Amino acid sequence: MREFIIATGNRHKVEEIERILSPLGFTAVTAGERGIDLGSVVEDGETFADNARIKAKHAFALCHSPVIADDSGLCVDALGGRPGVYSARYGGEELGFEGKIAMLLDELKDVPDADRSAHFSCAVCCILDENTMIEVEGRCEGAIAHAPAGDGGFGYDPIFTVNGVSFASLSGEEKDRLSHRGNALRMLRDALTQHFS
Ligand code: IMP
Repeated sequence: MREFIIATGNRHKVEEIERILSPLGFTAVTAGERGIDLGSVVEDGETFADNARIKAKHAFALCHSPVIADDSGLCVDALGGRPGVYSARYGGEELGFEGKIAMLLDELKDVPDADRSAHFSCAVCCILDENTMIEVEGRCEGAIAHAPAGDGGFGYDPIFTVNGVSFASLSGEEKDRLSHRGNALRMLRDALTQHFS
C-alpha cells in the first residue's frame, strides 16, 4: 500500500482524492495525520498549476515523502473567469460559503441562462521524490444556477450545475465521474500506473 500525504486541510478534498486513488492501492492522509504541521504557504501563482506546484513543493520539503497538492476554483465566463484562482478568497477569506454564493449570485443577477456558463478547474501536482513530479489539470464545464440546491459536496457545489443538476445534489461517486478533480485525478492515476508499472 503506497501512501500519499495530501497537502490540504480540506477534508472533503482528501476524501475525493482517496475515493479515486484507493482502488489502485494508494492511501491518502493529511500531513496532520502524520504529525507534520504544513503551516501556511503563500499561494501567489497566476494559474491553478502554479499554485498546486507551490503547495506540493512546500509539502514535500517538510514531509520528504510522496505528496499530492491540488489547486482548484470556479471560473465564471460572464465575470471574465472570476473568481478563478481567487475562489477561496472571493469576498474575503473570512466570508463563508453561504456569503460567497450569495455574492456570486448577486453579481450574476441580471445575467440570462444562456450566459451563465462556468467551469471548475483543478490542477494537481504530485511529487514522488526529488526527481519525479507529475502535473495534470482537469476541468468540468457547467453553469451557475439562480439559487443554491442540494446539501452534499462543499464550497460552490450548490450553485454549480451540469445538465441542470447541482454538484451538491449528487452523490460523491456521481460528482467524481463529472468533476474537475475527478478528471484530474484519473489523469494522475493513469500517470502513476504507468510510472509504477
Ligand atoms: P483551494 O483550496 O485553494 O484549491 O481553493 C479552491 C476554492 O474553490 C475553494 O474555495 C473551494 O471551496 C472551491 N472549490 C474547489 N473545488 C471545488 C469543488 O469541487 N466544489 C466546490 N467548490 C470547490
